[in-house]
Amino acid sequence: MGFIRSRSAVAPLRRGIPVQASAVATRRTSVVQAVAMHQPEDPMHCIRPGVLKDTARSFVAAFDQAVAGDVLYAVKCNPEPAVLRALWDGGVRHFDVASPGEIRLIRQMFPDAELHYMHPVKGRQAIRAAYQQYGVRDFVLDSMEELQKILEETGDAQDLGLVVRLALPKGNAVYDLSGKFGAAFDDAVELLRAVRMVAPKVGLSFHVGSQMLDPAAYERALELAGRVIAESGVVIDVLDVGGGFPVSYPGVTPPPLGDFMAAVARGVARLDLPAHCRVWCEPGRALVAPGVSLVVQVIKRRGNELFINDGVYGALSDAGVPGFRFPARMIRPFAAMADAPLEAFSFYGPTCDSADKMNGPFHLPADIRAGDWIELGQLGAYGSCLRTAFNGFDQARVVEVFDRPLLETPGYDLETCAA
Ligand SMILES: *Cc1c(COP(=O)(O)O)cnc(C)c1O
Repeated sequence: MGFIRSRSAVAPLRRGIPVQASAVATRRTSVVQAVAMHQPEDPMHCIRPGVLKDTARSFVAAFDQAVAGDVLYAVKCNPEPAVLRALWDGGVRHFDVASPGEIRLIRQMFPDAELHYMHPVKGRQAIRAAYQQYGVRDFVLDSMEELQKILEETGDAQDLGLVVRLALPKGNAVYDLSGKFGAAFDDAVELLRAVRMVAPKVGLSFHVGSQMLDPAAYERALELAGRVIAESGVVIDVLDVGGGFPVSYPGVTPPPLGDFMAAVARGVARLDLPAHCRVWCEPGRALVAPGVSLVVQVIKRRGNELFINDGVYGALSDAGVPGFRFPARMIRPFAAMADAPLEAFSFYGPTCDSADKMNGPFHLPADIRAGDWIELGQLGAYGSCLRTAFNGFDQARVVEVFDRPLLETPGYDLETCAA
């Protein structure tokens, strides 16, 4: 049988050369200037390093103040190197990784980073490489079978951190994650006892679901975690409250970050944990969503439907069936912008699939026409990383800009990033 060489079909994001060529221009470029400079016919990803850095700094400081805990960035949310560097600059030192590719990337970029393998169902080779090649010691698990596998593939290592992932009842997150991973109450009790026998560091984790708008969800989950811990009689070293922290979208303003931190602090305080126990969290969306926006071009207008050059097979996957709306503004750098009233528009993506449709509504000036550009904000999370090469639409470029986000989430201090 032949050897199959794997090759990514998706073109990497192209750097915008003219913007990068001048350090001065880079430092001060706005989205509008970048559009004027490139007149991009392919989707253009606008990374805001200052916003990413300030967002990370705000979050890390708030979590430290609440529970003196560690913030693990969930890499799957956006693994773009410029994004990772900005988060590092903002003080993120821990990474929630879930695959050999993510482990390799973070290890290469940040030799001193702390990696935590937070996927509860791993391949044997992946476990071996993580432990032996990349120095990963922390592994999450939700079954005896996975524990057995970790012990076998690390040669019964004596220096493991083993974290049991607890299943939560179906919650009210925008993205419910309760179905796929996690041990039920009794299994989690048994697993905690089992890992305590073999590992010097043990913990319990959960995930309330993504874009969780209710701070009390963290308190409820912590209460359940507390009952598992008490029932097991195990002294734990790590308690991981997961990700799910929300950001603003049009028509959705979450409670301020401080409310979530206070809920976590209250929930943790009730548990009577040993003094040495570290609290972790694994934010993805909250750290990166505001830090990247996407500029698309209108190819054709048909009534209030716009055919644009990116879609659900590109960076706008969440605008499709999940129905996320994103803040939008028209950019028309070479002609006067009439003060047209805003109207509701829907989008079609560039592929020939009729499912490549985004209902929005996206509110844009009534006179928008082919050739205009649109900036869509809050796309730093689960945007560019979900691009495919379907139908040959795999080109996109990336530039760095210094605008503030189109929408701000309460509780984050973005003072230093202002352009
Ligand atoms: C995806 C994921 C996260 C990040 O979730 P957000 O909702 O983006 O904060 C954190 N932890 C685990 C285990 C995940 O799978």
